[in-house]
Amino acid sequence: MLKIDNILLPNGLYIVSTPIGNLKDITIRALSVLKNCDFISCEDTRVTKKLLSKYQIKSKKLISLHKYSNQNKLIFLVNKIKEGKSIALVSDAGTPIISDPGLSLVILAIKEEINVFPIPGPTAIAASLVGSGLKSDNFFFVGFLPNKKNQRLNILKKIKKINSLLIFYESPKRIRKTLNDMFLIFGDRKCVIARELTKYYETFYRGKLSKLKEINKDLKGEITIIMSPPEKEHVVEENKIDDEDMEKISKFVENKLSKKDLSEILSIIYKKPKKFFYTKLIKSIR
Ligand code: SAM
Repeated sequence: MLKIDNILLPNGLYIVSTPIGNLKDITIRALSVLKNCDFISCEDTRVTKKLLSKYQIKSKKLISLHKYSNQNKLIFLVNKIKEGKSIALVSDAGTPIISDPGLSLVILAIKEEINVFPIPGPTAIAASLVGSGLKSDNFFFVGFLPNKKNQRLNILKKIKKINSLLIFYESPKRIRKTLNDMFLIFGDRKCVIARELTKYYETFYRGKLSKLKEINKDLKGEITIIMSPPEKEHVVEENKIDDEDMEKISKFVENKLSKKDLSEILSIIYKKPKKFFYTKLIKSIR
């Protein structure tokens, strides 16, 4: 049996990450904070009680906090910390505040000059990203898309050109619609659906959007989608200037503008180095 230490926690707000499915995915430090804090602010008390009972953390005072909690609840919690108490903030799963409640409490705590201690651990962002096998040096976390179709399509259009992996949280109820909308806006990109991570039915569906949107399996449970960036040619195409255009431009500005000045203007418009255009201009008048 794991023995969790007894320590005196300095007063403050502890933002504690908890498992995203498998209850063994919790750090020793997180358990120590949960055991030794004065209060735990949580979403659903039943979910947090289950975690506490697994680690035999007994008689903890749980205070529920969700997105509809009013300012009085936040003030109550902050006052407790000011009186010298330590409060652990947890959500039902993963890292609080990441598509979960808690931000207003952290903002108020910082405003009141209270110490805030993140206790890092699981989040579906990291687990899905590393298991996806998709290559990218960076990623952009989108979170949940809006419910309304128009708003959803608008967001997808806005983020279409981002040259990074995109990570979305999604509910099983909307996954089909979302995959169709993504196909409509992004085209046939590579993507990964990470389902029920760390749980018994953990599954990764990998492939092109055209294939995944037709998937015949029941997509139940918790789902994260990782979308690859636009294809290279796609990105270049947006800023493309071909040799024929270059020749037309250089003819048009002949004797009106120096090659150096023209290169500078083109580099601003097309967001490419001046040298790139200068070399092209020299070639085009040969
Ligand atoms: N705070 C959490 C975190 O750090 O990942 C996210 C909370 S958000 C309300 C819940 C969403 O996270 C789910 O709808 C799903 O998109 C994603 N998620 C959470 N657990 C997951 C899991 N085990 N497998 C796949 N996705 C998961």
